[in-house]
Amino acid sequence: MTVWQEDAARDLVLNAGERFALLTRGEGSYLWDDQGKRYLDFLAGIAVTSLGHAHPVFVDAISKQAATLAHVSNYFATPPQLELAARLKRLAGAGIDGRVYFSNSGAEANEAAFKLARLHGGAERPRIIALENAFHGRTMGSLAMTAKAAMRAPFEPMPGGVEHIPATIEALEAALDDRVAAVFVEPIQGEAGVVELPEGYLAAARSLTLKHGALLIIDEIQTGAGRTGAWFGFNHEGITPDAITLAKGIGGGFPIGALVTFGAASSLFTPGSHGSTFGGNPLGTAVANAVLGEIESARLVENAAARGVQLRTVIEGIGSPLVSGVRGRGLLIGVALTAPVAGKVVAAAQERGLIVNAANPESVRIAPALTIGDAEIEEFQTLFATALADVRVGMTASETGKVDA
Ligand SMILES: *Cc1c(COP(=O)(O)O)cnc(C)c1O
Repeated sequence: MTVWQEDAARDLVLNAGERFALLTRGEGSYLWDDQGKRYLDFLAGIAVTSLGHAHPVFVDAISKQAATLAHVSNYFATPPQLELAARLKRLAGAGIDGRVYFSNSGAEANEAAFKLARLHGGAERPRIIALENAFHGRTMGSLAMTAKAAMRAPFEPMPGGVEHIPATIEALEAALDDRVAAVFVEPIQGEAGVVELPEGYLAAARSLTLKHGALLIIDEIQTGAGRTGAWFGFNHEGITPDAITLAKGIGGGFPIGALVTFGAASSLFTPGSHGSTFGGNPLGTAVANAVLGEIESARLVENAAARGVQLRTVIEGIGSPLVSGVRGRGLLIGVALTAPVAGKVVAAAQERGLIVNAANPESVRIAPALTIGDAEIEEFQTLFATALADVRVGMTASETGKVDA
């Protein structure tokens, strides 16, 4: 073990496995470790660093705001906070009635949404519907909505009322009644391996929740801020939800989250019903304004759509027998594998200088900065093809047998 590995093994909480490398610097789509090794970053901190690393717009916004005003209590408003609330309402199409609550992370945004659902439901509507394979975070409320039983089990009992149903329109139809407070969905299930909802699901969920008086709350934490080639995942189906949650990409690397409410759902929170010391601080909101402003002016949503199509073609063009398909939209891509070797592919890629992620044993997740161009994609093609070939060479006969079958 190197010194940093010893430090990590001794001092860091044991909630995660061994860290892959000690990263010390980033620029654009590249990262460097303590050995000076360069990596092409096609994960972007899991869909977080929308503009890449150390983008001048990000650096400038954070430096200027830190030198101006970093934090005040929520007894006061600040210009960046008001600007970001108005911007998110405009981008989400929340209309004049929309409102924004700021948090510091995705899980906290979902906690706020959970409380919104309870305020809407009261005693008459105790049920909250979430989907199988959903990921909504690790705090208790967001964990209750996260589907994986192994993640929840050690922390039982969960906040009550949450049920997980299959991601089909029929299952939703069967589950909904007038005792449901809210339906929570991700437009694309990122943690599940970048799995899309069935065609027409959000439109059906919208009409069914309206019919039963339940809120439709869309978790856009991974899919928002242009990631899928639209500002938000729900835009692809042209619906209006009751609320969306945001985090990850909106801060470009600064921790910030938000709950945006639409229409009548905007009047559920009342003075004293929720709060956060850091939520909506001028530093975080100034950075998010700069990041979202750059995504808009540099047309990065359009870039995400176009580069996503290009990247898909590139991955399919590699023609690896390990790849059975490509899922996702825009720059949120899941590469489906024919064997449970995603961990090996990620390790081989890293060895070659490419960072991607194993969302599960059968899926590699790819989520680069929205700024990528031809140069990054060409380099990715070479590195990813090599990594897939490395894994194929290293596979046992029974593993490759499975692949060839
Ligand atoms: C990452 C993620 C979360 C949790 O966000 P944190 O900032 O890690 O708390 C919730 N929902 C989705 C869809 C996510 O991708």
